[in-house]
Amino acid sequence: MSSISDEYDALEVIGKGSFGTVRKVKHKATGEVLVRKEIEYTSMNAQEKNHIVSELRILRELNHPHIVKYSRHEHVSEKKSIHIYQEYCDGGDLGKVISNYRRNRELVPEEFIWEVLVQTLLALHRCHYGIEAQNVDLFLAAADRSEPAVNSETVVIHRDIKPDNIFLLDNGKIIKLGDFGLAKMLTSQNDFAKTYVGTPYYMSPEVLMDNPYSPVCDIWSLGCVLFELCNLQPPFQAKTHLLLQNKIKQGQIPEVSLHYSLQLRTIITNSITVDPNLRPNTFELLNSIPVKMFRKEKE
Ligand code: ADP
Ligand code: MG
Repeated sequence: MSSISDEYDALEVIGKGSFGTVRKVKHKATGEVLVRKEIEYTSMNAQEKNHIVSELRILRELNHPHIVKYSRHEHVSEKKSIHIYQEYCDGGDLGKVISNYRRNRELVPEEFIWEVLVQTLLALHRCHYGIEAQNVDLFLAAADRSEPAVNSETVVIHRDIKPDNIFLLDNGKIIKLGDFGLAKMLTSQNDFAKTYVGTPYYMSPEVLMDNPYSPVCDIWSLGCVLFELCNLQPPFQAKTHLLLQNKIKQGQIPEVSLHYSLQLRTIITNSITVDPNLRPNTFELLNSIPVKMFRKEKE
């Protein structure tokens, strides 16, 4: 039987994830380059398998200019793997961008940080409210309407916003949110803090403590990413998991580098607010961004 894999030439591995590799592939017939996330499920527990199924469902539904585009998927039973084909982001991920600036001891330009903020917010706005604000103009046009009711069918919380999951294209001009492997539809119950692997530098206090959470947990994490773009280190750091957890619960962060504008610094500190009820949502944040910071949309 012919499989989807046969249609592609495998190119180099460009990423290693917790459950397999991410590889560049080229469609033999059309020459189209995609990435293939090869997820091996042999060592996964039931909950982790559910995360893959939910990632697929979510990806297929999310069609947005600032979300990495899903293309197709395949169950390769002989390899006990799921292959997810997605748009290739030629600029890599934001984690690598930050490491490069850190290594070269250079500051990230403020305009770039605004671009990350605006474009990631547009993606999160789609996730959190199910609204296709495709670009800034459409958002502004709709902004005088009151905040829309949440439709839990289409609402997605990403839950793993961090530099490694934010992707770049077109020399860093276009920013896309990816890796929905831990994302959740709003309707499902809490189980996240228990299943998270890795150091939770960007995790919000309510998620960390397994309290009920809402879409603004992503805003906390985005605030942490923006902080790291300004200061070239994450806002919360500690030698042990427990110390890190305590710091996050207190929410005390070092000063955002004074090299950046007060407007940007204020957005960052407001986003890293411990009480989720006092934290701004995507709607409030997009509305608070000075219009001059919105770059003209590409034609
Ligand atoms: P995981 O769930 O394992 O973290 P990711 O989807 O985040 O999987 O992929 C892991 C890494 O592979 C990313 O941090 C990035 O470096 C690379 N990568 C993943 N998807 C893409 C893509 N669409 N374009 C370019 N690089 C990618
Ligand atoms: Mg990832």
